[in-house]
Amino acid sequence: MKFTYGSDADTIYAPATPVGRSALAIVRVSGPQTQQVFLQLCGRIPESRKATLSTLRDRTGVPIDQALVLYFPGASSPTGEEAGEFHLHGNMLLVDAFALELEHLGLRLAQPGEFTRRAVLAGKLDLTQAEALADLVEAETTAQRRQAVSQLYGALGDPVLRWRNRLLDALSLIEADIDFSDEDDVGEGLFMSALTIASQVSDEIQTVLRDRGIGERVRDGFRVVIAGPPNAGKSTLLNCLAGRDVAIVTDIPGTTRDVLEVRLDLGGLPVRLFDTAGLHESGDVVEQIGMARANDQLDAADVVLWLKPAVGPDSDQSRIPPPLVAKVIHVLTKVDRLGAGEATIQGTGADVAVSAVSGAGVDALVLAIQQALPVSSVNEGMAITRRRHREALTAAVAALCRLPQGTEENPTDWTELVLWAEDLRQAVFHVGCITGHARPDDVLDRIFTAFCIGK
Ligand code: GDP
Repeated sequence: MKFTYGSDADTIYAPATPVGRSALAIVRVSGPQTQQVFLQLCGRIPESRKATLSTLRDRTGVPIDQALVLYFPGASSPTGEEAGEFHLHGNMLLVDAFALELEHLGLRLAQPGEFTRRAVLAGKLDLTQAEALADLVEAETTAQRRQAVSQLYGALGDPVLRWRNRLLDALSLIEADIDFSDEDDVGEGLFMSALTIASQVSDEIQTVLRDRGIGERVRDGFRVVIAGPPNAGKSTLLNCLAGRDVAIVTDIPGTTRDVLEVRLDLGGLPVRLFDTAGLHESGDVVEQIGMARANDQLDAADVVLWLKPAVGPDSDQSRIPPPLVAKVIHVLTKVDRLGAGEATIQGTGADVAVSAVSGAGVDALVLAIQQALPVSSVNEGMAITRRRHREALTAAVAALCRLPQGTEENPTDWTELVLWAEDLRQAVFHVGCITGHARPDDVLDRIFTAFCIGK
């Protein structure tokens, strides 16, 4: 079912604080009826942008609550339209009674992200800043919080806007060349200047696209996959790192048949830790499906913990992981079962030795995982944080690559110039989609339905 927003002309309201008992519950209002709301419920319109203590009354004059209220007139408001905030006491019955009065005045509950959507439509925020706000609300680790804040302050939107402006400059040069194409000398050089700008922008975008997806990983979590033969101690290690019993542990090989996932904060970095089915020869159909899924996880991993038990049955397939793109940390497990003096990794080919039962070596393993993550440039400068950004930049580069790449290639006729102008226009469009300067119909709805109500 396609999600549709109500009319942008409606006055909307929504609680901006979580449901439940708390000291305060803030309700936001935005839209043309805001002044009427203040008049009806507070008896007057408060001084603009100044917190004012006011008694809120229902339509029969009975007090609902004593609240701090704020009025944001028109263009200076966060949504770019008349808006207000009501800081009630944090009781849901009270909030419900207040909401009833608002609905009686004709207001409707906001859709997810509708306040931010209005801010974007009013030009208060660009789309990357709106996305940053959503990421900030969702952030679970320090790296995620920092990345969201830096995007909110333009770490992504500003350079993208500068690329767009330079491409618009190039486009206007080509358009001027088209205008002068009858007069031999006048347009000379315009086309060459346009090509130089376009090729510089294309190079810069391609450099950013070679970022190994770090921004997206910070947002979604780095993928760390625990793999190895059955009974190597994978599920036990997952439980140990998670600090709780997520996976079922038995000494029956093949207990883990599907992929289990836990989200962790490793020193401020978001990590998605996956436990996978043991990799070995098996005729069991369910186990085979589990192993196929394990292999998919290995292909998408940033880091693989390849486990080998220090004691117990060993086989060739328990020693060598399949060829992987990810960084592999070889982990010797169950070292508590070794005799005194035996707990050494020398000669085993392992990087770390752990016991998930006694906890020995687990800190060293966590450190090894942190060092293996591709984090050198986390939170520094521009980061692509969504697939949407990457697709738009890739499409812009594809359009720019259709322009002649060597400056010696002069346009032979007017038609070529027109086609190249169109390629530039395409590049401007794709780059503009990132900040919202170009908006294909469904982009806004797709972005804001992922927000929470009241944002
Ligand atoms: P998986 O099949 O690789 O997921 O292995 P499990 O985590 O299910 O463990 C298999 C068996 O080894 C279970 O009986 C665990 O209790 C045991 N085990 C796992 N890790 C350790 C460890 O560090 N020390 C000891 N002594 N036993 C362990």
